[in-house]
Amino acid sequence: AKQNGRNQYAFYFDDLKKDSKRLIVLEAELRKAIQNKDFYIHYQPKIGLATQEIIGVEALVRWNNEKLGLVSPVEFIPLAEDTGLIIPLSEVILEIVCMDILESRSQGNISVLPVSFNIASLHFQQDDFIERINSIIMKYNCSPQLLELELTERTVMKDSEDIVVKLIKLKAMGFKISIDDFGTGYSSLSYLNRFPLNYLKIDRSFIQQITSLKDKQAIVEAIILMAHRLRIKVIAEGVETKDQAKLLKEMGCDIIQGYYYSKPLAPNDLLDFIEIWEIYRQE
Ligand code: C2E
Ligand code: CA
Ligand code: CA
Ligand code: CA
Repeated sequence: AKQNGRNQYAFYFDDLKKDSKRLIVLEAELRKAIQNKDFYIHYQPKIGLATQEIIGVEALVRWNNEKLGLVSPVEFIPLAEDTGLIIPLSEVILEIVCMDILESRSQGNISVLPVSFNIASLHFQQDDFIERINSIIMKYNCSPQLLELELTERTVMKDSEDIVVKLIKLKAMGFKISIDDFGTGYSSLSYLNRFPLNYLKIDRSFIQQITSLKDKQAIVEAIILMAHRLRIKVIAEGVETKDQAKLLKEMGCDIIQGYYYSKPLAPNDLLDFIEIWEIYRQE
């Protein structure tokens, strides 16, 4: 038994070594990738339920590293947050989004859809946050009217005067503002009417169970009612089935995002999707 225990300990230690080794490699590779702007963006369409129109897209970062292969943002975004790399990383991501918008503009005929992108807490907390994102946007001749900021509940939850002032400024500049992952934070609802919000995004964990669990359904229904009272539109994220989409429409949800309509797409695939959607949505 003693022997066995030692082996288990040894295995555990090996695992720890493997984990910390991966972290070291990841961080080093991430630093290099930021320097080389070695990321690309996939865009997931959002569909307005009233008109069945594509009303915008969410930008989601992708990283394909030569050593590590495809690394998920679920792994490298938290690492970037822990190491402070999230600030330069977020600025590189915004640059790539602006370049993609420029590129699709230069291709003519297609009118550009609003693009939302994810803002990390640490980035938003910087005193010069607004100046810094503004200078990137100006550099690429992009307009805040085309951009939406997705802030998580956790980022704005503090409900401090600072945050309110920042959000009002951003709104005045033309940005739209969403609360992401709504329902997963500590949900202090008190901030909702103090902030100039355009959208609430209900987290996937609620959406996945609305057709099977009555109480999840009740919560989603209540969120929609409350948001509408405050003139905030509701986006359901992670919608995967026709039944979920149908139920959400009945409940008065405004916008749907999820695999049911489309995965996040590379820019060229997005253009194809838009073309096909325009042809078939009338039917
Ligand atoms: P998020 O902001 O909540 O983004 C939605 C995530 O759900 C995306 O995962 C998307 O691909 C996935 N998703 C969309 N529809 C469905 C569906 O119907 N079913 C399921 N199972 N999943 C769906 P992704 O791209 O892996 O991103 C994960 C998270 O990483 C994001 O969650 C966000 O918190 C973070 N992230 C991604 N891109 C960025 C970025 O550019 N900047 C920052 N700061 N964070 C990012
Ligand atoms: Ca998001
Ligand atoms: Ca989300
Ligand atoms: Ca999420």
